[in-house]
Amino acid sequence: MKELTSYRGREVVVLGLARSGVAAAKLFHRIGAIVTVNDMKTHEQCPEADELTALGIAVVCGGHPEGLVTEQTALLVKNPGIPYTAEPIVVAQQLGVEVVSEVEVAGQLSPAPIVGITGSNGKTTTTTLTGVLLEAAGLKSIVAGNIGRPLCEAAEEIAADGWLVAELSSFQLKGTVDFRPRIACLLNVAETHLDYHVTMDDYVGSKAKLFANLHETDVAVYNEDDALCRELSQAMNGRHMPFSLTRRLTQGVSVEPPYADIRPSADEVDSDAERWIVYRTDAGVEQRIIRVEEVGIPGRHNTANALAAVAIALAAGAEPERLADPLRDFRGVEHRLEYVGKFQGVKYYNDSKATNPMASTMSILSLPARIILIAGGLDRGSDYMELVPIFRDRLKGLVAIGQTRDKLGKVAEIARLSLVKIVEPEEDAERTLHRAVMEAAAMAKPGDIVLLSPACASWDMFTSYEVRGRIFKHSAHTL
Ligand code: ADP
Repeated sequence: MKELTSYRGREVVVLGLARSGVAAAKLFHRIGAIVTVNDMKTHEQCPEADELTALGIAVVCGGHPEGLVTEQTALLVKNPGIPYTAEPIVVAQQLGVEVVSEVEVAGQLSPAPIVGITGSNGKTTTTTLTGVLLEAAGLKSIVAGNIGRPLCEAAEEIAADGWLVAELSSFQLKGTVDFRPRIACLLNVAETHLDYHVTMDDYVGSKAKLFANLHETDVAVYNEDDALCRELSQAMNGRHMPFSLTRRLTQGVSVEPPYADIRPSADEVDSDAERWIVYRTDAGVEQRIIRVEEVGIPGRHNTANALAAVAIALAAGAEPERLADPLRDFRGVEHRLEYVGKFQGVKYYNDSKATNPMASTMSILSLPARIILIAGGLDRGSDYMELVPIFRDRLKGLVAIGQTRDKLGKVAEIARLSLVKIVEPEEDAERTLHRAVMEAAAMAKPGDIVLLSPACASWDMFTSYEVRGRIFKHSAHTL
């Protein structure tokens, strides 16, 4: 997109009144653009509208009015969640009006270099840990983007000598054009979000956009263990900084001695005591960072996240010897394999953020067997058959909830699980989940684990995975 100042006196449409839309609207208004904000929701459902109206910004709620986007529109900033089939976007594209996400705008605005982190799973954990590592290394940074705070807002605040650490979803990246991070990181690519992207190519293409504008001096951090990441890396500009759990890299960040696989096998009792996270420079100089066993976040997938965060921090200029302490102390992020407590001898874990089968698989593998899993949620059309082996090898029981409850029940049947309970929905979703927790508690014996790791999004029952996770924790505490 063009320089921000070039939009002064020109018409800019902001589609979607979520936090990122509000931030973009205010920004363009300050620049002197003629801003119109539009949302399908009614005025009452858009509490942010009044604040913008008070500033003199035109806000249209309750539908897309005709003539919203015209030849006069210089730019359309869309909320990442709005599909490209929405009428104003179709019209904009027909008229040749540039359509971008707020991330593209932030990229124009930020005086600081940007770290962009994407992937199907592990984004928030890696982004948060990256911020922690940079801080421990004495480097200034602000963490923002998909993780919560609009990137535009953070881009306005950050000084040129800091790092803007951005968690980026494929939806946000799809709306970028010239966005250029100085350090770009691709964690993994799983089959997910196909309801929005429709094809895997579109999804992968969106992720790959993070690397589209890298210069030779920029750094491409990617997962050497993931076939798609490896394939995409061949077209990545910039200095390559791979990370790996399973390969001894001649250059990059890896676990040594390497694991046989990215997932522990069902019967594997792994000793991490002698495994190290090792950094090897382009010149082949080797530096041990920390023993894997000492890393504060559990599970091999989290070790992969730690490798990525270490690679990013090193690329940003952190001294290797300053990374061990924060890696040891970091306890992870709420709703991600979060330890809730021990009740009647049973440990409870809240992994509400595991919204696809791959995420749940990694979490299940991170815990010792004898797990009673609470799973199920929004039905996106998948049959979940990839969960059969993990159900068979690692679960003691399943409690299924939500729209996908019967599908997951079928998976459990094929996996020959004997303890299975399908919880039919009650009017009140909170009560349904509470009942599921009671059912799981009834199945569990001391020494067992009850894990909420739904493998599905929450929107069939709850407004967010956070709400789902908090209700689960509350139910566990009231057992
Ligand atoms: P995201 O922001 O991409 O959704 P999070 O860091 O919030 O990722 O983690 C969400 C869930 O995904 C976790 O609860 C865990 O089950 C799973 N997960 C985290 N990191 C990875 C990884 N590197 N590979 C596979 N699954 C992961």
